[in-house]
Amino acid sequence: MNSFTYTRADAIETAVDERASDQTAKFVAGGTNLIDLMKENVERPTRLIDITRLPMATISETLEGGLRLGALMTNADTAYDERILQRYPLLSQTILAGASPQLRNMATDGGNLMQRTRCYYFYDVATPCNKREPGSGCSAINGFNRIHAILGTRTPGTDGQLAEPNCIATHPSDMCVALAALEAVVRVTGKNGERSIPFADFHKLPGDTPHIDNTLEPDEIITAIDLPPKGFADNFMYLKLRDRASYAFALVSVAAALELDNGTITDARIALGGVAHKPWRKPEAEALLVGKPATKENFQAAAESLLTGAQGYGHNTFKIELARRAIVRALGQAAKLEPTA
Ligand SMILES: Cc1cc2nc3c(=O)[nH]c(=O)nc-3n(C[C@H](O)[C@H](O)[C@H](O)COP(=O)(O)OP(=O)(O)OC[C@H]3O[C@@H](n4cnc5c(N)ncnc54)[C@H](O)[C@@H]3O)c2cc1C
Ligand code: SF4
Repeated sequence: MNSFTYTRADAIETAVDERASDQTAKFVAGGTNLIDLMKENVERPTRLIDITRLPMATISETLEGGLRLGALMTNADTAYDERILQRYPLLSQTILAGASPQLRNMATDGGNLMQRTRCYYFYDVATPCNKREPGSGCSAINGFNRIHAILGTRTPGTDGQLAEPNCIATHPSDMCVALAALEAVVRVTGKNGERSIPFADFHKLPGDTPHIDNTLEPDEIITAIDLPPKGFADNFMYLKLRDRASYAFALVSVAAALELDNGTITDARIALGGVAHKPWRKPEAEALLVGKPATKENFQAAAESLLTGAQGYGHNTFKIELARRAIVRALGQAAKLEPTA
């Protein structure tokens, strides 16, 4: 049994101070991921800092005309909020595609960003895993890797050549795929004050440090997530492909958002889930669509561009073709060229 202490923070500053003074402490919000990981002996914090009483559970308007989601908003309250449904239906759709009603009632938006991979070996402490134990190896690369990444696993080394991967895990969140497409901004507070992190820079690729999932500093807490004014509420689609119709993580998912003027695309966003260590976007692929008619051929060209460099590891190689087809279908559905059911 691993013993730990429990404290409840009554102010954001107190939570930050407590975390800064103890590097093995962890914040706990809904507990739906952290407590599971503690039971499996994957996470062993010496102290839990309960943040659930902090004043971070509201949605408010931003000066720019967007919405600010408090980090302690539950996934359920966010997805069913009237302002989200009207102005950011893509976000609502992604949240409701995840987990179960019971989990969404507990899970918080901040915790959703911080949830850890579902790689089987990460959970199995009897196997080598560079993410759980840096330097121990990766059991998935030559193991059972059906749910693993096909993009961003190999990054250029100091010689400019693509290095062999250290980790091929994926980020499991659905919500984060919409937040990437919407270009949300993560607001954090730490010992050095507040800062804002563009969503594209929040999660990182594994590179040489697969044990680090994101760019949050150890003493920082997520306080809110800002949604920019543009919500793509007219033409959007979240297509999630998985082994079961509900209560399963994505094998491949696509958040597609378009702005159309008489059938011509004036703006496009495409983010992929289930394929990389972070929600996957490629602005060049989106730029290929701008100024063009919304046709299957143009969507296929964008899909080819998005998947450039995709690499399978055996069991997961099917994901490359699955992603190609899913991108084309999701864009067709967002453009209302195809039915959504
Ligand atoms: C069976 C099951 C199925 C699921 N299916 C899906 C799915 O299909 N799609 C999907 O997207 N998700 C799914 N989830 C994951 C679920 O969405 C996450 O567990 C949840 O969002 C985490 O939020 P939480 O508040 O419970 O986080 P916690 O478990 O409390 O914390 C998780 C991590 O976040 C950190 N943290 C929490 N809040 C903050 C903060 N404000 N600032 C800094 N760090 C913080 C904690 O320290 C911890 O490291 C599933 C979970 C389970 C158990
Ligand atoms: S893919 Fe990543 S999380 Fe999974 S075993 Fe390899 S190093 Fe660990």
